[in-house]
Amino acid sequence: MIKCPLCSQTAEFFIQDKKRAFYSCSQCSLVFANPQSHLMPAAQLQRYGRANKAAKQKQLVQFIEPLLSQISAQQSGSLVGLNFGRVMDRVSLDKIELAGHHLYQYDPFAKTDQQLFKQQYDFICCYRVLEHFQQPAKEWQLLSKLLKPDGWLAINTSLLTDLNNFSKWHFKNNPTHVSFYRQQTFEYLAQHSEFKLLFAAKELVLMQKSSKSGIKRILI
Ligand SMILES: [Zn+2]
Repeated sequence: MIKCPLCSQTAEFFIQDKKRAFYSCSQCSLVFANPQSHLMPAAQLQRYGRANKAAKQKQLVQFIEPLLSQISAQQSGSLVGLNFGRVMDRVSLDKIELAGHHLYQYDPFAKTDQQLFKQQYDFICCYRVLEHFQQPAKEWQLLSKLLKPDGWLAINTSLLTDLNNFSKWHFKNNPTHVSFYRQQTFEYLAQHSEFKLLFAAKELVLMQKSSKSGIKRILI
């Protein structure tokens, strides 16, 4: 019996490809690789090193810059954000600083400063990160804790749109990709956590933490 790593419901066997078995959860719609097939950290790092090249940097910038303009349009003043999971280069960071904002960076291999987890942020961006979460429930709790009430969470991951095509989906062939989310997964998260789902299509998911959580904290 395998439990869903996001909502803990018992998951069902879904598909076996040449290398891994995948399971699906009927409660939160997550599809995930058998945990026994997860790569060890050293092998993950090797894959990660290969993936973290200039092209990815450009895509990361193209993800974060429009996001910052959008959030700035909704919320005045300087913003403090966390780039969770990947590191942006100095030049792009300088551009953000010049615009009056500050972006901290956390990366499980290169920038592992745990002090970053002791404050809260106006926004968090996760570019091509969620598919690597081996324990998505734990990571989700962390992201939620790190966001200020009304804070924004912007996610880029390939949404799983067609279960029938899963076996041919190239995205699942990367052995470091272990968690696959459907639009319904984010709807489930919005219903069962302190987030509103604003947008989920193709590769972009935008959520906002409810301000109620802040009020609760004040009342306590
Ligand atoms: Zn689940």
